[in-house]
Amino acid sequence: MKIGAELAGLSSEQLWERAKASLPGGVSHDGRFLPPYPTYFNKALGARKWDVGGREYIDYAMGSGAMMLGHNHPQVVEALRGQLEDGTFYATVHPNEILWAELVKELVPSAERVRFVASGTEATMLAMRISRAYSARPKVLRFEGHFHGWHDYAALGMKAPFDKLPCLGLPDWLREVSVVCPANAEATEKKLKEDSGVGTIIVEASGANWSSVPISDEFLRDLRTLADRYSCVLIFDEVITGFRWSPGGKQKLLGVTPDITTMAKIVAGGLPGGAIGGRADIMRLLDPNVEVNGYKPGVIHKGTFNGSPLVSAAAVATLRIIKNGEATRHADHIAGLIRRGMQALIDELAVDAIVYGEASTFHVYFGKGARKCKISDITPEQIRAMKRDSLDLYTAGLRKRGVDFMSYTGGLTSLAHSEADVAPTLEAFGGAVRDLLDAGKATRV
Ligand code: PMP
Repeated sequence: MKIGAELAGLSSEQLWERAKASLPGGVSHDGRFLPPYPTYFNKALGARKWDVGGREYIDYAMGSGAMMLGHNHPQVVEALRGQLEDGTFYATVHPNEILWAELVKELVPSAERVRFVASGTEATMLAMRISRAYSARPKVLRFEGHFHGWHDYAALGMKAPFDKLPCLGLPDWLREVSVVCPANAEATEKKLKEDSGVGTIIVEASGANWSSVPISDEFLRDLRTLADRYSCVLIFDEVITGFRWSPGGKQKLLGVTPDITTMAKIVAGGLPGGAIGGRADIMRLLDPNVEVNGYKPGVIHKGTFNGSPLVSAAAVATLRIIKNGEATRHADHIAGLIRRGMQALIDELAVDAIVYGEASTFHVYFGKGARKCKISDITPEQIRAMKRDSLDLYTAGLRKRGVDFMSYTGGLTSLAHSEADVAPTLEAFGGAVRDLLDAGKATRV
């Protein structure tokens, strides 16, 4: 019997009522609640997913960006089936993690050596630790609104107000090891000049929140220069951009190589997993056979499920497909059609909003003056200022028309999306925007 068969027939509302008694708020992630209750999904295939009522959606959340090949790509499913026959987990080294690491090394320029972890959060946590060890300086410089997972060292600056710790439970001393500044070269250099304790710079290679607040290529180039000038370790967080912006991530596309790269989502074939890749002399700190300054290894790193065989199988199958660049080209093409179509609708409805996005992403910013603003001037505060209730209405408007976006107001495409998906997506988008206008939650220009 399939697990969950005893819950078949329950509506999302009934499931959520039941969930609340065992899961705080009925959810497993802050972002998964949508009022009045979240929609429960139980099936996905290609670019589609279905809720428990059997309703079909075109999916642009795509596993929070993890499913670059679409849901259940046949080669990934075959790889997983093959591994299931041999066991899911041994907690030992195993051959397929070598293949996985070799693929990451081949594709990602900075990845001279690779270490697997279990999530993007773990990737940035480990990258920061080895970076502090290598630089022998305690502070990490990061940028306003950039998200690097939910661990303590990534907390300060993740959301506005950027000088305030973002939730309860975080020690105040995090301010002594986190330096936050706006994402521009002048502000970065000023901080580096005035604080010699900074030994690490970490940046979301897409700009904050999977490119909802874009940064320029120039800024990433400047960061490389500044990191070298101030002897800092430069970390590109490519949890989103990795294997999406190009098979070798943003760094390969741009031709700027960081010292360490953090990866998750696509790198793990859409399964729970992640990786860091970095310069061999830095990654040496993780070698259990090497003593560094009296510590062997230099940096402790454990983690039961690192490089698990099941995840490795999906990852190798995925990266082998990603390698030739076709998935990237295709997903970029579809996202481009969606961006253009959305902007045309915004123009037609004369809504104060702007559509933008890079690679296989699309974003909409609704706000006073949005239509006239330059995309490069959008700030994390503006994105955050979009009212939660408007966004909930917008998301609900899309869902009732059979389309699901990612958080905020955009989405991501995959190899599984097709040109035939564009028209129904735009129809749903137009309807959701009309709902906002009718409710007085979007303005006309
Ligand atoms: N870094 C970035 C840029 C992310 O977008 C995310 C998650 N969306 C993370 C780190 C954390 O990854 P995870 O959710 O796998 O812990």
